[in-house]
Amino acid sequence: MPSPSRLIFACLSLGSVFLLARAALGHGFGATELAVLTVWVVFSTLGVFFPWLQMYVPALCQLPTGRSELALTFDDGPHPESTRRVLALLAPTRHRATFFVLGDKVRRHPELAREIRDAGHTLGIHGDVHDRLHSFRSPARVAREIARARSSVEAACGVRPSWFRPPLGHTSPLTALGLSRCDVTVVGWSARGYDGLPGREPSAIAARVAADLEDGAIVLLHDAAERDDFEPPGVRALPEILALLDARGLTSVGLSAVATR
Ligand SMILES: [Zn+2]
Repeated sequence: MPSPSRLIFACLSLGSVFLLARAALGHGFGATELAVLTVWVVFSTLGVFFPWLQMYVPALCQLPTGRSELALTFDDGPHPESTRRVLALLAPTRHRATFFVLGDKVRRHPELAREIRDAGHTLGIHGDVHDRLHSFRSPARVAREIARARSSVEAACGVRPSWFRPPLGHTSPLTALGLSRCDVTVVGWSARGYDGLPGREPSAIAARVAADLEDGAIVLLHDAAERDDFEPPGVRALPEILALLDARGLTSVGLSAVATR
């Protein structure tokens, strides 16, 4: 069953094509046509930026509820220092996470992929490089980038990731076509700390996450910066977030544990 936003997008697209065809046949291009086209442009752009709308591709943005479980997820790694800091913070706890790694960083630090695996966490992929224009790339390039990242993880630690979080979470009709050639599940999020930018206070990150830290949540954090030029403040916020999980009786599970049930 297509998502409501996908149905609206399809209707708007058909309406736009119809009005443009009518205008081309001499019926004129007036305020109605302009309004419909404007709504189409705005709506289709929203679909690129917000994966939870599931306008172009189905995306897992929430776990099943009722088990007091959620999924902590970390993007943009691995990094020798900050990823290991995250692993060390998680190690003495019952919480397991999912790391959406970049293929080129795994090739530089294959031992980190093994450390993530050995600690019982799930490995997903976030692209081969952090391509901010991912949603504008051709379907062939999307498929190629995913295959390359996946091969890098597999070569490093023997795990073949089946979870994919697009860079910036952006998707498009081109992304959808590329993904149709890959056997991956797209993962979005339902909570985020906005810790991909430097300079934010860890307490602010934790407070932001806390608002949506609930049964079934998928929490977006970062274990490395996109260009490895700072330590994401979410790393220092993690102890507070883990304490919140304990206080609320929630357990973070890796996505592979969810998939095998
Ligand atoms: Zn990212």
